Amino acid sequence: MLESVRMDKIHVHTYSEIEKIEGYIGNFTVTIRKKARYVKDTCNGCGACTEICPAHGYDEFNQGLNPRKAIYIAFAQAVPSMAQIDMTKCIRCGLCQSVCELKAIDFEQEDEFIEEKVGSIIIATGWDEYEPPKGYLGYDIYPNVITQMKLERILAPNGPTTGHLVRPSDGKRPKRILFVQCVGSRDLNKNTYCSSGVCCMISIKNSKLIKQHYSDSEITVAYMDIRAAGKDYEEYYTMSRKEGIKYIRTNISKVEEDPETHNLKIILQNTLSSEKLTVEEFDMIVLSAALVPPKGIKKLQKMLKLETSRDGFFKEFHSRLNPIDTNVPGIVLAGVAQGPKSIAEAIAQGRAAASSTARLMTKDKFEIKLIRATVDKEKCAACRLCELN
Ligand code: SF4
Ligand code: SF4
Repeated sequence: MLESVRMDKIHVHTYSEIEKIEGYIGNFTVTIRKKARYVKDTCNGCGACTEICPAHGYDEFNQGLNPRKAIYIAFAQAVPSMAQIDMTKCIRCGLCQSVCELKAIDFEQEDEFIEEKVGSIIIATGWDEYEPPKGYLGYDIYPNVITQMKLERILAPNGPTTGHLVRPSDGKRPKRILFVQCVGSRDLNKNTYCSSGVCCMISIKNSKLIKQHYSDSEITVAYMDIRAAGKDYEEYYTMSRKEGIKYIRTNISKVEEDPETHNLKIILQNTLSSEKLTVEEFDMIVLSAALVPPKGIKKLQKMLKLETSRDGFFKEFHSRLNPIDTNVPGIVLAGVAQGPKSIAEAIAQGRAAASSTARLMTKDKFEIKLIRATVDKEKCAACRLCELN
């Protein structure tokens, strides 16, 4: 990211949103809304304002595990490293202005609109973590039921606990941890697709990481099937079993919390053995939630007149023979915008998207086959669905 910001021919617009896209291959006009940060570009990210600010907001980067100030730098390695104000939380006390030596705070700043002319577009929207419904296996009711994204921030050296494993209810280290797989995926009532083994591999990675740091941890993974498809993935999974991580094929239907200790009790049955139902107690439960299309994908889809697949991700030209291009010439897909995939697959697709774009842009001319739909008035039922799409 830092490298691209420093390149002359790459214009990076951070804290911005696409407002409008018009045109066609070789000649797109993109209108970008550069949102007001209420801080000028002269800010050097010194952090003096965030220290003094008395107002707090929700820290999106750390999944709400700690509060952040109303004026804040998004995260430690943010590019550009500069402050921005969350006006929904700011109390206009002016303290930040009084300590800023560069006079960078500007409460009058407004959103700016920038127009860029481009020949082709690569869509790399990424993904969101599926948010389980309130109460699902105790989520959002019991403090020690968290999702993988929260665990990632807890385990991160630059996270709110500087990488120390603690549970939210009391800040103590959880010793008995249960990972629950396929939350919100491979479920006929939610998302029918598998998140391409990503959640399985994240559970294996995080349980190994916890075991490496705290060898007395007791980790159980409750799964339907472990999907470890990919180079060296199966071996990685086997290694985790050898390290003492327990895998149980089961379905968890209910979690109960002990209100005194905040420990979590579940009833489970290993469906691969003849054992009867057992009651087990854990200090923390981690839900391995599905990868879902990011918020805002619908808006982008309408702007670009692209199709989405049944899973809600962008639809490729052909799922087997051409998973990179779309049905609109000049618009290509990279990474999870097209569907759940691992980091290695996302890198491969990103490179393929760059090469597909380069192939198109080296031509002086591009021929578009004008296939036009016509309405057979005799057969049309006037449902107007075609108009909506
Ligand atoms: Fe420092 Fe001023 Fe930027 Fe705050 S706004 S980080 S005080 S330069
Ligand atoms: Fe924080 Fe707003 Fe006060 Fe600045 S004016 S210190 S952002 S509350």
